[in-house]
Amino acid sequence: MTATPTIDTEPALLIGEDRLAEASGGTFDHVFPGTGQVNAVIPMAGPEEIDRAVRSAAAAQREWAALPVERRRELMIALARAIDADTENLARLNVHDYAVPIMMAPGQVGLLSKFFDYYAGWIDKVTGQTAPVMGSHDVNMITREPYGVIGVIVPWNGPLVGIAMAVAPALAGGNAVVIKPPELAPLAPLRFGELCREVGLPAGLVNVVPGGPEAGDALVRHRGIGKLHFTGSGATAKKIAVAAADTLKPLSFELGGKSANVVFADANLDRAVMIAAFMGPLTQSGQSCACGSRILVERSIYPEFQERLVAAVAHVPIGDPFDPSMMMGPVVSAAAADRITGTIDEAVRSGTGRLLTGGKRLGGDLAEGYYIEPTVFADVPNSSPLAQIETFGPVVSVMPFDTEDEAVAIANDSDFGLVAYAHTSDFERAHRVSGRLEAGSVWINAFSEIQPSGPYGGYKESGYGRLGGIEGLHEFTQVKNTRITLGS
Ligand code: NAD
Repeated sequence: MTATPTIDTEPALLIGEDRLAEASGGTFDHVFPGTGQVNAVIPMAGPEEIDRAVRSAAAAQREWAALPVERRRELMIALARAIDADTENLARLNVHDYAVPIMMAPGQVGLLSKFFDYYAGWIDKVTGQTAPVMGSHDVNMITREPYGVIGVIVPWNGPLVGIAMAVAPALAGGNAVVIKPPELAPLAPLRFGELCREVGLPAGLVNVVPGGPEAGDALVRHRGIGKLHFTGSGATAKKIAVAAADTLKPLSFELGGKSANVVFADANLDRAVMIAAFMGPLTQSGQSCACGSRILVERSIYPEFQERLVAAVAHVPIGDPFDPSMMMGPVVSAAAADRITGTIDEAVRSGTGRLLTGGKRLGGDLAEGYYIEPTVFADVPNSSPLAQIETFGPVVSVMPFDTEDEAVAIANDSDFGLVAYAHTSDFERAHRVSGRLEAGSVWINAFSEIQPSGPYGGYKESGYGRLGGIEGLHEFTQVKNTRITLGS
């Protein structure tokens, strides 16, 4: 068994100017998924700390909004540079958090700084409009204003990406934030909070309060939260929608997916296979919202595609996520490993498709961690649970289609609509199919790559609201109409 790497920071809640090593939600023994052993004890926020964080954010927001725009822009750019300078540290904390391979962790840190650079550029461009008033010469102004304090709830898979996408536009829009990372991945978010302090953002502008469902619920219900952004599962989003009804709080949701990846016979097959493997079982062991877990392949290339996909995934290096040569690490927890292998076993037992490769937990030196082989099923009916429920593990289904209409119909036959992929060398088809796919993002011959200038978000049960681009800024500002009567 490999040793559990040690962490040299002491986790503490960041509220205003305070670091709280103890909190009312008790403690959580955080387990490193690579070894199954405790690597940190996390103080957990309860409603008391959530209330304190919201109050401190409200005070800081007034200070932030009063700063000249150029000072706010300088501070956001300074934060981006501090993130860049801390890349190695943040990346390692990301690995300690949820065992994303170190090969990929720095990319998430890079995205974090890019979002702050991008939204720093918007700070002095939050412009308004004027509108003519019928029957008078009054001045009518339409402006965008902050909500005040934004609650940001992030998931464990890619917490820095969740923070990047929501916190950068929220601050650019003049808000303060209370970030609630989950108990499974609090370390990198806490370091981000420290960096916000180090560069001189007003104390309390960015509060980081790790906690579980109780803390999340307290944040959702808090009357001091002007808007809540949630990234996570649909099941939790539905509870949040109910809890937020009490205060009629505006919400935006970035949720899960069961994304289709449509491969036409005229595609560049080498590239299509690589993307299907990478955006399927390999990236974060399939624990990605953008996982292309339903791979639809035109029948004439169906046998060859299966062979190539199996060859691409069967021999990827799996192991210690701190080893830079490893492409795949473990899944996040013992419970996740049980759930994923349970899904695989049930599919095999019920004869749902043919298991082409994978399906098992890894043993030997890796037996104490939560490592699962990349797993590919073929001939999976789209109506089966395997094709309809988000597995959130290294499991994909391959299924054949005969016509473009059939491919689109299968792709859209899902409650989700986060992303979709298509592979074709026919530009007209690319354009046509993209318009027919029910998803917030369509990636043609491309990896899914979130970028600050493009809006990201879901159709159907994959959520509502958009982060990235001008849409992201609008998500965190509300519209005011002011009329000034002239000549009264
Ligand atoms: P989750 O829904 O279990 O938890 C997400 C967050 O909600 C955590 O911080 C958790 O502590 C908190 N929470 C739990 N119960 C709550 C409650 N009752 N009230 C308020 N907050 C509560 O999701 P997860 O397992 O952490 O993350 C995986 C899910 O997130 C997957 O479905 C994945 O597809 C989705 N996801 C979506 C995106 C996207 O951009 N669309 C990105 C990453 C992950």
